[in-house]
Amino acid sequence: MNEDTHVFYRNPFTTYPVIARGEGAYLFDTKGKRYLDACGGAVVSALGHNVPEVVEALKAQLDSVEFAHTSQFTNPPQEQLAELLAELSPGGLNHAYFVSGGSEAVESAIKMARAYWVQMGRPEKWMVIGREQSYHGNTLGALAAGGNRWRRALYEPMLYQRPRVSPCYCYRCPFDKDPAHCALECADDLERAILEVGPEKVSAFIAEPIVGATAGALVPHENYFRRIREICDRYDVLLIADEVMTGLGRCGTWFAIKQFGVVPDMICMAKGLAAGYVPIGATLVHNHIVDTFHNRRNVFQHGHTYMGHPLAAAAGVAVIKYMQQHKLVERSKKMGEELITRLREALHDHPHVGDIRGRGLFCGIEFVLDRATKHPFEPELAFHRILGETAFANGLIIYPMGGTLDGRRGDHVLIAPPFIITKAQIGRLVELLVKSIDATVAKLR
Ligand code: PLP
Repeated sequence: MNEDTHVFYRNPFTTYPVIARGEGAYLFDTKGKRYLDACGGAVVSALGHNVPEVVEALKAQLDSVEFAHTSQFTNPPQEQLAELLAELSPGGLNHAYFVSGGSEAVESAIKMARAYWVQMGRPEKWMVIGREQSYHGNTLGALAAGGNRWRRALYEPMLYQRPRVSPCYCYRCPFDKDPAHCALECADDLERAILEVGPEKVSAFIAEPIVGATAGALVPHENYFRRIREICDRYDVLLIADEVMTGLGRCGTWFAIKQFGVVPDMICMAKGLAAGYVPIGATLVHNHIVDTFHNRRNVFQHGHTYMGHPLAAAAGVAVIKYMQQHKLVERSKKMGEELITRLREALHDHPHVGDIRGRGLFCGIEFVLDRATKHPFEPELAFHRILGETAFANGLIIYPMGGTLDGRRGDHVLIAPPFIITKAQIGRLVELLVKSIDATVAKLR
């Protein structure tokens, strides 16, 4: 235990190197060790570290005002950020509710869905349904909507119960179908769940357009979300796209859901929105929901102290402008293609690499004990954790996760470097990754 520190996260015995500075795609600790940051923490650092334009925008905001409560004032950066997001998001999502992170954005959406149906004269509609192998945040509402069994387990008695819905997981289709010939049984599973609980109770369905932490950049069948939209419309269920990880260019378009041809009723975002420079989250809300708040007596009964924080919003504006000026969303698409090609070249015949997938600079690798049977490693081996630690020791930071299948079974990593990554850095990333995978396999023998 490090007796000099009183910070507590996982447990008091976990110690970490001390961060000293960041520069572009690299982080440096106080001992001078350099790390290639290939996941931006938990898919946060979209621009890379220490971008002067963003730092200057934050300083300028601090020179005018650091904070004024949203119940008393609006502030220019949040108005400007809302305007920018309305321009970039799919049609009609013209209203932004700014909070401090992803879980708050999801909680706000869950409550907004409830408030909407109450305004619509349907107060019995309250339940938000999510899928298995999904993660929507660690606060109780968001955890209940999500289907990450491992994260839920300790808190299960405190979570509202809802029917389970299949993920769209073509590599391991829950219905044993081939994606080229399936009838989208996984999407129809939502209809089954809505009917099981009763459509009169269901307010919304929440899904990540491309599943991140729980499944390793799981790209859905190209028609999946169209069918989901139809089912939601059939039963008066709102569709919430959780773009906390995928939002703002990460998958090669400003919003990942745009790639699947539907407009959701709400979008939750966070991480990439201020790219880690300060904490922020947002729930983008469609006009038709906001229109139900049609007089001063209709209030959305919710809120957090730091909503619409001027510094957070200023960072968001600076990040979007920087991305626009440097065409970073296009770059995320292009460099993402480079990354996935290089990963496939290096790992396509690796005996323990089952699947390599993703869009833009949001890539996942799923590991298996046996490629032919797709049998996973035993959870006790903690393959993903050892791989993450080995890569870290080698100066490469990736995002390892277990529980791709259910409970703790299944291992994958997310690779999500900053959009400014160069081809040479991608080459180095792949080299260090292959070295780390091989060392991990050797350790397990
Ligand atoms: N939703 C998704 C898809 C996420 O990946 C995360 C975090 O990883 C969250 C919500 C929760 O965000 P936060 O950790 O900022 O509360």
